[in-house]
This record gives sequence, C-alpha cells and structure tokens, in this order.
Amino acid sequence: MFKLQELIRANTEELARSITMEQGKTLADARGDVFRGLEVVEYACGMAPQLAGEMVENVATGIDCYSIRQPLGVCAGICPFNFPAMVPLWMFPLAVTAGNTFVLKPSEKDPGAAMILADLAMQAGLPKGVLNVVHGSHDVVNNILDHPDIKAISFVGSDKAGRYIYERGSVQGKRVQSNLGAKNHAVVLPDADVDSTVKALTGASFGAAGQRCMAISAAVFVGGMDKWKRPLMDAAKSLKVNAGWEADADVGPMISPEAKARCERLIQSGISEGAQCIVDGRGVSVPGYEQGNWVGPTLLSNVQPHMECYNEEIFGPVLSCLEAGTLDDAISLVNANKHGNGCAIFTRSGAAARKFQHEIDVGMVGINVPIPVPLPFFSFTGWRGSFAGDLHMYGRAGVQFYTQPKTVTSKWIMGEVAASSSQRMPGLDRVGS
Ligand code: NAD
Repeated sequence: MFKLQELIRANTEELARSITMEQGKTLADARGDVFRGLEVVEYACGMAPQLAGEMVENVATGIDCYSIRQPLGVCAGICPFNFPAMVPLWMFPLAVTAGNTFVLKPSEKDPGAAMILADLAMQAGLPKGVLNVVHGSHDVVNNILDHPDIKAISFVGSDKAGRYIYERGSVQGKRVQSNLGAKNHAVVLPDADVDSTVKALTGASFGAAGQRCMAISAAVFVGGMDKWKRPLMDAAKSLKVNAGWEADADVGPMISPEAKARCERLIQSGISEGAQCIVDGRGVSVPGYEQGNWVGPTLLSNVQPHMECYNEEIFGPVLSCLEAGTLDDAISLVNANKHGNGCAIFTRSGAAARKFQHEIDVGMVGINVPIPVPLPFFSFTGWRGSFAGDLHMYGRAGVQFYTQPKTVTSKWIMGEVAASSSQRMPGLDRVGS
C-alpha cells in the first residue's frame, strides 16, 4: 500500500485526465477525485492496529480465550460513474490489506480510472489474482450477486440498483454494504455570512455538474429567501460551463444524453408544479462542443416538499430553494425527506449549530462546511434511505466489514495431556473442581 500510495501520487495527472475525458468533470475536480481516494490508501497503510484482536488470559485454569480478525475470502465492489477513482479506492485497498481478494466492477460509463488503478496496484506488487477487474453492467452484477465464492459486496450508486443488490446479495448470505442516493440539504440561517455562504452553496450545488452524492441539492432559507436571491442568482450565472479540460471551466457536462434529458424534465416538472426557475440552465450551448450534454447552473425557488423535483434525486446542477419559518421547521423538513446522506447548516450561532447537529436525522453534518465528506479515519456514514447494511464504508467500520472475528479458546497446562478428557464445557471444569 505504501508503494501504491506513491504510484497514485506520481500518476495523479494521468488519472485526472482519464476522469475528465470519460466523466466530464473539470480537471480540478478530477484531481480531487483521486486525492480523496488516495487518503483511503494512506489509511490502509496504517490499518494494522484495526486488525488486532482481543485476549483474556486464564479464563479457567490453563485456558486462554482470544479473538483474531480474519479476511472473508473473495469480496466484490460495484461502482458508480461519478467518482471513477475515489469509490474504487474506498473499497479495494482496505479489502486486500485485510487479506481478501477483490473483484472490482467499475461503472460501464467510465472504467478508465479503475484500469489505471489496477495497473498501479500490480506495479506496486499486489500478487496476481488479488485484484480483478470485470466490466459490464446488469449481467455482470448478477453474476457477482449469485457467485457462491463471493462473500461480501460493497456497492455505491443509485437507490434502485443499490436496494436490488442489497436484497439479492443478502438473501444469499453475503455481507452487503450499499451506499445509495441522496438529497442533501443546506439550512441557511439569517445570521449566516452572505459571501461565504453563497460561495459554498454554489460550489456544492453546481460543482461537478451536481453529480456528487454529497452535492447540496436543496437549500432551506430560514426566515425567507429575499436577501439571498440576488447574490445566489449572480453567483450561479457567473459560473462558466465548458469542457472539463478547458482552463476556464467551472461546470462540465452531464454524463449522458439520458441524464441531461431527465434533469431537464425534472426542472420542467418543478415549474409545472409552481416553482419559479430564477436561473435556467437548460439550452446552454458551448461553442466547439455543441453536441455535449450541457445543463447550466439552475435555481428553482418556491419549491415545496410535495414536488417531484424535490422528492426525486435530480443528480444535475440544480439547486431547489425552500423556505422555513424557524430552525425547528427547517429541521422537520429535512428529517421528513427519505434520504439521510449529508446536510449542512450555515450560521454564526454555535447554539443553533449544536441544536442542528443533535436533532438532524442525517448521517454526515457540515457546520459552515458544505460537503462534509469524512476523512478515512472516520467512516462514510449515510443514514436512512441513503444506506443499506450494517457497516459503513472505510474507517474502522470498513475494516470490520472486510474481516470477521474468530474466537479461540485454548488450554495448555504444563505436564498435562493437551486434549481434555472432560465432557463438560471448558471453564465449567473450574466451577466443578
Ligand atoms: P447506478 O446505480 O446506475 O450504477 C451503479 C452501478 O450499479 C454501476 O456499476 C451499474 O453497472 C450497476 N447497476 C445499475 N443498475 C443496475 C441493475 N439494475 N442491476 C445490476 N446492476 C446495476 O448509479 P450511477 O448513475 O452510476 O451513479 C449515480 C448514483 O450514485 C446517484 O444516485 C448517487 O447519489 C449515487 N452515489 C452515492 C454515493 C454514496 O456514497 N451514497 C456515492 C456516489 C454516488
């Protein structure tokens, strides 16, 4: 892993270029994609203490009891298109460091970065057969789900695929962790700093064309939106939509014509249901790239919780703006949403932030931080509709996911035959004697 870390660092530009070419995000975002994955490799370099077991000596005369953590065998990972380097790196470095072999299925939409990473892992000395990459979509996933040798599956992607994979895998006795879709809210209090909050909101909503699982896609303005409207509109309009490799690009294309059409349909459904489109990114044309899947930053105001544009994950550069009378109302609104991945509060009040942190029913919380993706010594802790499984990805929980405890009871007494002739449970010997 130390060598892999070094090689990923040395090849960051190659990885970033591949991501930008295939996925479309800007080069700066693509470097971030690699860097956030690299952090997990660094965690794997130091994860030996997480593999330590426990021991209680002399639970009865000459008897010790101890547990060791062992690998599961063959594990698999099924990845989404939006972080082609980071998500594979959430998975295989921990799995193989724990002693498993791994079958990685990148997204069929952008498998290039996973292939470069696998090549770097081989250069780093990973034995042949330890990391295996398979390509394809539904049929390949079904083979992974049904293969009796595969003991655990890590999935990151949409609700539909993730629920299906969780159910079909679990029914067959596999361990499954499924990171699902999201609707991440920002709650904005009237005392928040305008400039930094608007900057944070636009970066987190429109960056990577909104195709981040932790993108802020709904903003709840406590006390009304009036003072926020103009600065937000100006900031959204100032962003440059362009190909990811162009130096001035802020927002790249969407992944496919289908994703673009779906995003535009959901914007229209919001308008039809009574929202106002105060910045409309539909119909953007980028000179030199006229055939691209472009949707520019879009702001919908007057969004209501019953609207389809609010209830569906748009996964595009669209920020839905809602209003709430009080912080309590805003918290209730966020908690009523089916997803529970990430959220953020913007305020100058420590007491309000503390109340929010305590009462919000969401697994990752930012306080004046728009995209609170945890560093790898914590885990990625989506809640409710954004996660299925018991053990989250990376961090301590990730190591537990890829290992199982074996508990040993051993008896060694000087001068005695090792195997006990007693028919009683070990430990009862002492009670009976
Ligand atoms: P997706 O669910 O369409 O695809 C993910 C993977 O599942 C791909 O490898 C694909 O081949 C496979 N797949 C898709 N449908 C399948 C089916 N019916 N049967 C078997 N396999 C299937 O997701 P996507 O469009 O690539 O990624 C975007 C989604 O991922 C968004 O919903 C986003 O919120 C989510 N996401 C979540 C997280 C998180 O950590 N919670 C992180 C990144 C992305």
